[in-house]
Amino acid sequence: MRKAVFPGSFDPITLGHVDIIERALPLFDEIILAIGTNSNKKYMFSLEKRLTFLKETFKAESKIKVTTYKGLTVDFCKEIDAKFLLRGLRNGIDLEFEKAIGQTNYKMEEIETVFLMASSGFEHISSTIVRDVMQHGGKYQFMVPDAVKIENQ
Ligand code: ADP
Repeated sequence: MRKAVFPGSFDPITLGHVDIIERALPLFDEIILAIGTNSNKKYMFSLEKRLTFLKETFKAESKIKVTTYKGLTVDFCKEIDAKFLLRGLRNGIDLEFEKAIGQTNYKMEEIETVFLMASSGFEHISSTIVRDVMQHGGKYQFMVPDAVKIENQ
């Protein structure tokens, strides 16, 4: 069984994430969307809300599971017997950052990272920009799936 973990903060999930996840579906038997819970980052949405957004968005897709994890992402992968990580790349900054993490993860536990390039028209979307626009009452709806829109109407 070819399992991939897509780790992220998903604060909130955006159409950029959805695009990567949907395009990765034919590559894997199961994709586990995993929110890491050990970072000291401050979040706009609670863990419960972020989980609900993910579950709601992919409720019709049986190959997608949603969960949280603590500790190193590679340890979580080993725990659930996933041999692959999935990440999206928007630009050169993502590439440089992800390259170092991907190489480290492979050296540590031989977990291979599969990178998909953002689709044309999606590379400008980030959770950071969505949060900023939301906080200032701007039009964010074109960047997020319905579950996030409904919650924030
Ligand atoms: P993290 O806090 O780990 O950066 P994010 O939720 O921000 O988590 O992102 C998770 C993954 O989704 C990362 O690989 C990121 O590059 C990717 N990603 C985010 N937005 C987009 C987008 N618009 N297009 C493609 N990939 C994206």
